[in-house]
Amino acid sequence: MRRKLIAGNWKMNGLLADGIALAAAVAELAKPRKHKCDILICPPFTLLIEAVRAVAGTPIAVGGQDCHMKASGAHTGDVSAPMLADLGCRYVILGHSERRADHKEPDSLIKTKAQAALAASLIPIVCVGETEAERDSGRTLEVVAGQLKGSLPEGGTAERVVIAYEPVWAIGTGRTPTLAEVQEVHAMIRRESGLGQGVRILYGGSMKPSNAQELLALPDVDGGLIGGASLKADDFWAIATACP
Ligand code: PEP
Repeated sequence: MRRKLIAGNWKMNGLLADGIALAAAVAELAKPRKHKCDILICPPFTLLIEAVRAVAGTPIAVGGQDCHMKASGAHTGDVSAPMLADLGCRYVILGHSERRADHKEPDSLIKTKAQAALAASLIPIVCVGETEAERDSGRTLEVVAGQLKGSLPEGGTAERVVIAYEPVWAIGTGRTPTLAEVQEVHAMIRRESGLGQGVRILYGGSMKPSNAQELLALPDVDGGLIGGASLKADDFWAIATACP
C-alpha cells in the first residue's frame, strides 16, 4: 500500500515574515488531526531553517527545491544535499521543469544530483514531464520515459525515491491533462522506473482544491506536487484532505 504524499513547492516566493507565517499556518492546520497522507513543504533556501522550526512537533516534512551534485567545495551560490539534511530537510525536488529550462539542467546532471541526495539520506523527488509541443506531436510517453531513464539515480529504491510527473504546459496555467491521460503516463512511469510497485508517483500541474480529489483517486497517482495552491495554507490543506 503506497501512502500518498502531498508536497508544496513554494518556488521563489516568500520573504521571511510571509514564509514563517505560511509554514506556521500549515503547521497549525496539521496539528489536531490524524493524516491519511504524508505532507511536505519545500520553501526557498532562505526560509528552510524557519520552516523546520515552524513545523517542529508536527508530522510535516520540509524539503529543498534543488541541491548541488557535490557535497561541498568551490561552487559559489550552490547548496549541497548534506547542508539540506543538516537543516532537517528530508526531501529535495530535483529536475523541476523550471530548473531544466532556466538552468539548462540535463537528465545526466539531475541523476547525479539525485545520487548526491541519496548519499545524504534525502529522498529525491525527480521531476519529469513533456512540453506542449511534445504532447501535440504524440511524443509524451517517449519523452517522459527518456527523462526517467536519464534522471533516476543508480541504487534508488521505491522507499527512497519519489517521481513527479509534471506536464510543463500544465504548470501554473490552470490546464491539466484529462484523467485518462494522467493515469496513462503514471502507469507507464511505474512500469519503466524499475523501482517496482511501491514507488510513489506524484502528479503536478495546476492541482487545486477543485480537481485534487479526482486526480488523487487515480490508481497510479500517489500524491501531488503543488505550486501555486501551496502558497495558501487553506488551499494546500484542502488538497491534503482530498486524499482518499
Ligand atoms: C509546480 O511548479 O511544481 C507546479 C505543479 O505548479 P502549479 O501547481 O502552480 O501548476
